[in-house]
Amino acid sequence: MNDDVTTAALEAWVRRFAALVAQERDHLTELDAAIGDADHGTNLDRGMTAAVAALNELGPAGAGPMLTKVGMTLVSTVGGASGPLYGTLFLRMGTALGDTPSVTADRLGEALRAGLDGVVARGKAQAEDKTMYDALAPAVDAVQRGLKDGLSLGAALDRARAAAEAGRDATTPMLARKGRASYLGERSVGHQDPGATSVALLVAAAADTLG
Ligand code: ADP
Ligand code: MG
Repeated sequence: MNDDVTTAALEAWVRRFAALVAQERDHLTELDAAIGDADHGTNLDRGMTAAVAALNELGPAGAGPMLTKVGMTLVSTVGGASGPLYGTLFLRMGTALGDTPSVTADRLGEALRAGLDGVVARGKAQAEDKTMYDALAPAVDAVQRGLKDGLSLGAALDRARAAAEAGRDATTPMLARKGRASYLGERSVGHQDPGATSVALLVAAAADTLG
């Protein structure tokens, strides 16, 4: 297969995600104003701006250390629930990829799975709790299933993008069972989850840069 992912491509993914978060910052914060504390966009934008700055400082590094750096930066600059959760996602991907100079599509799928598992270990969210899990889990499933079915990485990531967007949209009617939004009970129904919305950006950025 000619689907290897270079560290440069993975870095482009992180930078593209940072750009999309900056672009959507106010929208993410508005979504969080409805069912949280109106900081998801500013939180994540601060974290991803710091992550890009850290990459600019880092110089040449392997895929694993690069993603680990992003995760550490997110943990230390983003407060609240999403800092540790996004931080763990990147840290686990970094650990899963280790020192490989060039990452196969299957390995990328496994790294995404490890990241998802880390989010679950950390936040204990399950399907339909109305969290970032509801966009991330279907996206990771779609990547791995697509690759197993023989799709190119680009095609598998396109499916993942659609799956993340569908998962994001499906959070609107859900009743929140994790995080701040859960304090609202029934009043959380009818609002799109901010974390699922930012995860859809992360997956869209992957489809834009890694295919
Ligand atoms: P905070 O809720 O601390 O203000 P953010 O506003 O940055 O943090 O992020 C809120 C998002 O975090 C939610 O929309 C949800 O997707 C996600 N989230 C919250 N708690 C959990 C959890 N336990 N597991 C997974 N995701 C969670
Ligand atoms: Mg918040």
